Amino acid sequence: MGPQNLPEQVAAIRARIAQAAQAAGRSAQQVTLLAVGKTQPAAALAAVAACGVHDFGESYLQEAQQKMPLLTQLPLTWHFIGRIQANKTRPIAAQFAWVHALDRLDIARRLSAQRPFHASPLNVCLQVRLGGEDSKGGVEQAALPGLAAAVAQLPRLKLRGLMALPPQESAPQRQRAWFAHLRQLQQQLNSTGLALDTLSMGMSEDFEAAILEGATIVRIGTALFGPRTVQ
Ligand SMILES: *Cc1c(COP(=O)(O)O)cnc(C)c1O
Repeated sequence: MGPQNLPEQVAAIRARIAQAAQAAGRSAQQVTLLAVGKTQPAAALAAVAACGVHDFGESYLQEAQQKMPLLTQLPLTWHFIGRIQANKTRPIAAQFAWVHALDRLDIARRLSAQRPFHASPLNVCLQVRLGGEDSKGGVEQAALPGLAAAVAQLPRLKLRGLMALPPQESAPQRQRAWFAHLRQLQQQLNSTGLALDTLSMGMSEDFEAAILEGATIVRIGTALFGPRTVQ
């Protein structure tokens, strides 16, 4: 897929988001398209931004730091969606507006302490390990309420919601069940007095199922940009 096709791809994804939202009785405005540009060149991100996409996700700090300076003229909101190493928290706290895969209090404390004083609080989602898969990060469900309560107290973070990378299911109903579960966890936290407004769930293969279960941010890479070539 060449960059010349990107406007078509953006339009196609937006149409699918709108259709899924409508099927769920929701407004398409309630679903943010987060373009996941990892491994894609800055020019491809700029082409997608030209179609009115503002939110971009990156998983690797070094790669993001190479592209961001090339795109400063554009009104972009940057989301860090990868795993966060303790020695990378300072640049992440400085250069991103959102972090999606927070799963440890020590990392949260560092991000809060290192968020520049002139910036608004860093928006964060807690990643929940839904399927119990060893290969994936995320806080265990039993530890989620404690972590959420502690993160909500940190002055320079704004706890926005939950994120998950559930196992891939071939049956759409089973895929939906994972997303429904994340929504229930959010509701449980909100019943304890938190005010989480974000569910970051759904990727290229399953974003419609996620929207049907309440996703407010869908993180889409390959369905938008085409296959990744490296990493
Ligand atoms: C790469 C990635 C995505 C996008 O995946 P696609 O299947 O290409 O849409 C979404 N979320 C996270 C955390 C990722 O690392």
